[in-house]
Amino acid sequence: MKAVTYQGHKKIEVKEVNNAKLEKKDDVLVRITTTAICGSDLHIYHGLIPGMYDNYVIGHEPMGIVEEVGPDVTHVKKGDRVIVPFNIACGECFFCKNQMESQCDNSNDARDTGGYFGYSNTYGGYMGGQAELLRVPYGNFVPFKIPEDAELEDEQILFLSDIMPTAYWGVDSAGVKPGDTVIILGCGPVGLLAQKFAWQKGAKRVIAVDHVDYRLEHAKRTNHVEIFNFEKIKDFELHMLEITRGGADVVIDCVGLDAKRTAVETVETTLKLQGGSLGAFEFASKIVRKFGTIQLVGVYGLTYNMFPLGHLFERNIQLKMGQAPVIHYIPELYQQIKSGKIDATDIITHRLSINDAEHAYNIFDDKKDDCIKVVLKP
Ligand code: NAD
Ligand code: ZN
Repeated sequence: MKAVTYQGHKKIEVKEVNNAKLEKKDDVLVRITTTAICGSDLHIYHGLIPGMYDNYVIGHEPMGIVEEVGPDVTHVKKGDRVIVPFNIACGECFFCKNQMESQCDNSNDARDTGGYFGYSNTYGGYMGGQAELLRVPYGNFVPFKIPEDAELEDEQILFLSDIMPTAYWGVDSAGVKPGDTVIILGCGPVGLLAQKFAWQKGAKRVIAVDHVDYRLEHAKRTNHVEIFNFEKIKDFELHMLEITRGGADVVIDCVGLDAKRTAVETVETTLKLQGGSLGAFEFASKIVRKFGTIQLVGVYGLTYNMFPLGHLFERNIQLKMGQAPVIHYIPELYQQIKSGKIDATDIITHRLSINDAEHAYNIFDDKKDDCIKVVLKP
């Protein structure tokens, strides 16, 4: 089958690899119809995720048609149309039963975290979904079966696999409530969707921050948020404190590690910052109000050795973070899409063949061609 493979730092290659196949009795094999590139894939691209090796198939935002099911699968059958969420989760353990599917106890033998598609041996060693075929473990729990009567295009529901429930979870678990001022760092796909959900939860002010102007303009045009380019504002953090009169109720970091700005080096499992900007988390710790909440949706893999503990402690900040438990949010968000309450298709700027993946990674990473979100067709 054709697949997008990792070949070392900033090297992506579309290659013929062995077909994905059923391995366990409750596996499902999905023929991918549409998939996408995520900001999380850029961390892999930049070599920030340990446990990758050459020819590893990446990608974790796929959907498609069930091609084959193992003998123990009753939840879906051949021909069903499914969304494949990025969390690999058994559905049986304490975490899966309590809506914490991103930390399933049974999906990652390698470490004490959950397993994720296409995200290295560190996260379970599962191959990814930027490919023609994908093996989906725990077929009775993981895939979301799209109702047969749904007249929704792939693009309308594709982001249920990750960034839509991730953004929703970010806003929801940060406790955004009516009247809040919310600052959202990062106007990538995740930040743009978090802006929509912040309004939905009744925020009074939604402020978007980035340093890429076309993304900020997109945010203003589509989500009617206030926008700030932090590179163009002298004393950015002070300015944010002034305009919010002491800081935001909630700051949501939709950036995470930014290899371009933080000059990072990975040493096995430790990440060393070598100067440059400390990134979004550092901003967040300074522009949140006293007793406010910071939600880290952006991925900080590995050990982050510049933790701004002092800023957080002295101002009584609540800190939340992690890989989003997306599975239990999917039915509810599917209904929102179906009823027209939410539409995320406005973030799609590029629709490309999987053959063009190398180019796609390049423009998404370099913020070229006004790229925001790339959808790939196998
Ligand atoms: P993206 O790379 O397209 O967007 C990040 C944006 O942040 C870019 O526009 C960049 O210019 C901007 N930025 C960089 N430094 C900044 C700073 N200091 N302040 C404000 N903005 C800054 O990525 P994306 O697809 O939107 O994903 C965003 C983050 O969310 C990534 O870290 C990704 O790994 C993470 N993510 C997490 C989960 C989860 O489960 N927690 C799921 C999906 C994605
Ligand atoms: Zn993702």
